[in-house]
Parts: sequence; structure tokens; C-alpha cells
Amino acid sequence: MDKVKKYPKEDIQIIWDAKKCIHSGKSAKGLSAVFKPKDRPWIQSDNASKQEIIDQIEKCPSGALSWE
Ligand code: SF4
Repeated sequence: MDKVKKYPKEDIQIIWDAKKCIHSGKSAKGLSAVFKPKDRPWIQSDNASKQEIIDQIEKCPSGALSWE
């Protein structure tokens, strides 16, 4: 099963690869309005600017988060 999920934000896609996620909680701590592990969908891209989301994606320690 494909565990890579994509979430649209304006002209980008937020990509989350479940297999790579080490559940560090870093995304949820850094940008809690968007990364909400207890909610579905767990990434709520309406709640921050594109740039804020990109900055947080680039801090993901495992590479689970990326964007295109
Ligand atoms: S920062 Fe990356 S590895 Fe950590 S919980 Fe978020 S997506 Fe998973």
C-alpha cells in the first residue's frame, strides 16, 4: 500500500512519507496549527502560510516531510 500522502497548499504539494516518519513530534511542536498528529487529516495546510510550512518541512529530521 502506498503510504506516501500528499496535501495541497497553493501551488505546492506537501508530501509525507509514513515509512520514514520517526514520530519525533518536531513538526507538531514547531508548527502546531498545521501538524496535528491527533487529527485527520493530520496536516491542515490552511492554518499557516506556504513559507511557514516549507520552513517547518525543512526541519524534519527523518526526511519524511518534503514538498514539490
Ligand atoms: S518532524 Fe518529521 S519525523 Fe518528526 S513527526 Fe514530523 S514528520 Fe515525523
